[in-house]
Amino acid sequence: MALLDVRELTVSYGGVAANLGIDLQVEPGTVVGLIGPNGAGKTTFVDAVTGFTHATTGRIEFAGTELTGMGPAARARTGLARTFQSVELFDDLTVRDNLAVAAGRPRWYSLLVDLVRPGRGRNDGADRVDRALTRMGLEALAERPGAALSHGQRTLVGMARALAAEPSLVLLDEPAAGLDTSESRQLGTRIRGLAAEGLSILLIDHDMELVMDVCDDVYVLDFGRVIAHGPPAAVRADPQVVAAYLGTGGAAAVGDVAEDAAVEADHG
Ligand code: ATP
Repeated sequence: MALLDVRELTVSYGGVAANLGIDLQVEPGTVVGLIGPNGAGKTTFVDAVTGFTHATTGRIEFAGTELTGMGPAARARTGLARTFQSVELFDDLTVRDNLAVAAGRPRWYSLLVDLVRPGRGRNDGADRVDRALTRMGLEALAERPGAALSHGQRTLVGMARALAAEPSLVLLDEPAAGLDTSESRQLGTRIRGLAAEGLSILLIDHDMELVMDVCDDVYVLDFGRVIAHGPPAAVRADPQVVAAYLGTGGAAAVGDVAEDAAVEADHG
C-alpha cells in the first residue's frame, strides 16, 4: 500500500486550476520526483498535501489517514513534513536552536519528570534535534548562528529542521536551488541515504541531473496536469516531456534534458 496516495487532486485559485486531476503515489522508502516547467503546479501540490491550501477537491490519503479537512499542524502530526523554497532561519539563533524551535513538542509528562528528577525530563525534542543534525551531517555547525551559514548550509539546515519532527514522508521544494554542482551531488547522496533508512521523499527540483540520479519514480507536471510518470530514464525520453520543456525555453538545467532527448530522438 502506498504511504501517500493522492487521487484526482484539483486545486483552483479563483477559477484557475493550478492542479488538475492529479494521481500520485509515494511508496515507503522511495524517492519520487515531481518536475515540470515554472508555474506547472509543483508547489501547489505540496501546499495541498501539507494543508497550506484548502482550495482542493479529490482525495489525499497518508499512512492510511484521509487528510481532507485537516490543517497543517494536524497533518504534520501524521508524519508529513515539508521544506520551503526560501529557507527562512532565525539568523541570531544557532543551528541547534533553529531546529529546536521546530522540534519542540514537549510531552506533558516531561514537565512532571523535570520536577521530580531535574535534568531527566529533557524533552524528547532535544534528542530529535541531535538525530536530525547527525542525519544531515551538521554536527560541526550545531552551535553556529544562522547568519554565519552559506546558502548550501542553510539548505541542509532547512532539511534538518523538517527531519527534526521525525516524519515518514518529507516533501522537499527545490532544495538544490542555488547549489553548485558538487553541493547538489552531496545533497543527492544525502537524500539517497535518508531513503535507505526508510524515509520517503517527494523531491521537487529543476536540477535534472539530481532528479534523474536519485529518484525511483518521476512525475512530470505541465499546466497542472500529470503529463508523464515512470522511471527516470523513460520520463526523460518521453516526447511530451521534451515538448513541455522546449515550449518554455526555460532554465538551462531543464533545457539540457530537452536537448539530450532531442539529440537522442535525432539519432534514434
Ligand atoms: P516554480 O517551478 O516556478 O516554483 P510551480 O510548478 O511550483 O512553479 P506553482 O507555484 O504551484 O508552480 O504555481 C502554479 C500556478 O498557480 C501558477 O500559475 C501560479 O501563479 C498559481 N498560484 C500559485 N499559488 C497561488 C495562489 N496562492 N493564488 C493564486 N494563484 C496561485
